[in-house]
Amino acid sequence: MSIIIEQFLIGNDNYAVLLHDEATGKTASIDAMEAALIASVLRANKWQLTDILVTHKHIDHVGGIEGLKAQFGCTVHGPVKAAQEIGNLDVLLNEGSQVTFGNYVIDVWETPGHCADHISFVFKSENIAFVGDTLFPLGCGRIFDSTAEYLYTSLQRFSALPDEMQLYCGHEYTIGNLEFALSLEPGNKALQKRELIIRELVSQNRTTVPTTVRQEKETNPFLRLDSKEILKNIDMDGAEPVKVFTEIRSRKNKF
Ligand code: ZN
Ligand code: FE
Repeated sequence: MSIIIEQFLIGNDNYAVLLHDEATGKTASIDAMEAALIASVLRANKWQLTDILVTHKHIDHVGGIEGLKAQFGCTVHGPVKAAQEIGNLDVLLNEGSQVTFGNYVIDVWETPGHCADHISFVFKSENIAFVGDTLFPLGCGRIFDSTAEYLYTSLQRFSALPDEMQLYCGHEYTIGNLEFALSLEPGNKALQKRELIIRELVSQNRTTVPTTVRQEKETNPFLRLDSKEILKNIDMDGAEPVKVFTEIRSRKNKF
């Protein structure tokens, strides 16, 4: 008996993830962009949706909550900081909250930076984390109503998780992120290797998510703020990591 994870795309690049606990029959959706496709995957698996875990208020993560709640009467857990904007939240979460899922416990981290209310779900016993739009393979989220300093701190927390932990995120943005990473650190051998793997996966229409903490530490420029090659390329030798991060994030916006 264990946890089954089903990940699928909605539209071009939005990931939906369902978690199913075989022992108790509980099923959770991480975010809910829209109800119809999620409901059809639930039906195909004969799963009853019991919970929705919301990472943040953006419409591509919450648009399906109302419809799913109406169909399944599920419990919706989400960030207290966006309770009003999201609506329909039954359980309000903040730093240190824990979500009980079947016989498991999932930790809640406040991970602002993409937006002020963003939270992540760290499922330690299963060695997986759901990081929403905070971190992507080879990249990180854009900054909306928050700051680069907050995003930097949130990413640093992820990089301190165990190397083998698997990170699930909200979007398939990997090819764009890969090209940006290569522009900053073309000599990174691990990145060169990863490029081949990613191009192969994408050519077969396969997903590049989840990633792992180790892989991101080795190749994601937003976690490589002390890379000599990156520092040289952006002419910031000796600069503080948070300043380097801020510069890289703003370069990505123009890339
Ligand atoms: Zn978002
Ligand atoms: Fe998103």
